[in-house]
Amino acid sequence: MTASATNEIPFALHPAARPLPALERARILAEPGFGRHFTDHMISIRWDTARGWHDGQLTAYGPISLPPATSVFHYAQEIFEGLKAYRQQSGPIVAFRPQANATRLNQSAVRMAMPQLPESAFVRALELLVTQDRDWVPVTEGHSLYLRPFMIATHPGLGVSRPSPSYLFTVIASPAGPYFTAGPVSVWLAQNYTRAAAGGTGAAKTGGNYAAGFAAQQEALDNGCDQVVWLDAVEHRWVEEMGGMNLFFVYGSGRQARLVTPALTGTLLPGITRDALLTLAPELGIPADEGRISLQQWRAGCESGEITEVFACGTAAVVSPVATVKGAGISWTVGDGTPGPVTARLREQLLGIQFGNLPDPHGWIHKIL
Ligand SMILES: *Cc1c(COP(=O)(O)O)cnc(C)c1O
Repeated sequence: MTASATNEIPFALHPAARPLPALERARILAEPGFGRHFTDHMISIRWDTARGWHDGQLTAYGPISLPPATSVFHYAQEIFEGLKAYRQQSGPIVAFRPQANATRLNQSAVRMAMPQLPESAFVRALELLVTQDRDWVPVTEGHSLYLRPFMIATHPGLGVSRPSPSYLFTVIASPAGPYFTAGPVSVWLAQNYTRAAAGGTGAAKTGGNYAAGFAAQQEALDNGCDQVVWLDAVEHRWVEEMGGMNLFFVYGSGRQARLVTPALTGTLLPGITRDALLTLAPELGIPADEGRISLQQWRAGCESGEITEVFACGTAAVVSPVATVKGAGISWTVGDGTPGPVTARLREQLLGIQFGNLPDPHGWIHKIL
């Protein structure tokens, strides 16, 4: 069977012969965790210099077989995205701003010298997968189906005189419960490591940024912290982001509360959650600006009480309060170490829109089914 339309990449549909029995699926959905279980199907689309995008398929979820010399294994030409499908209370299954993820995938593709995927094909791939695996979209409140599109270089050879002439775009899906289960997050300041420098790949959603970050993430764990906070590469002084999430600082409280988030200097990842909160906060009477925050300002602001809350934001964990900050020979607490009201308010507003309990004035909700 083929689902196609003129000017679009056709997808051949080959549903799994043996999808997981409903009882086993139910057992997984009762306690999905994050990124541990995958649905019955996946999407793939191939690209090469001769044919462009072709061979769109929906198949059973399963291993990808590639020659050991395939370039992604050696030179890490890989990009990915992350977004969620939500089952709204009133019935429909929706995605949050999938076109924004399509745009960002293509921005990452440009930086990594990879081909751009038409946004309509990206969105269609998500729709096909979610429709096929709709029984995997959790009904439990606050749970969702995490979608992971990614693209890899598939050239079978070790030459590096030019980017790979062939690529594979894939989408997999994983039911997701809450990402951080243990409440507020403790963070470790990466003072010995750098995530990204000007002209590097910090703004691209590419696996190499994570590969380069795991040593610092391990250092965070070794020091009893949950997550690493990255600083600028030049002075190791300006706050950039936290692990795979962007950071917001709350100054003041009550009607005086306002937000600051590090500006997109080219070295940090332009989060779609970050972008949504920059729009939503002012609508709730909380001014929100992009700016610059140094480590010294963060610490002094917490000590003086000027900074009342700090939170991280991203698709996976939505909005997560940061309670404690530690670095080599320094540590401090944000507020009284418990989640603050501005953090809670913004989290509630965003989840309300995503799960359809609040109006969606910006047209961010994309109905799938
Ligand atoms: C994906 C990601 C984010 C958050 O982006 P969202 O679109 O909000 O999920 C932030 N930082 C890094 C490094 C990321 O990879």
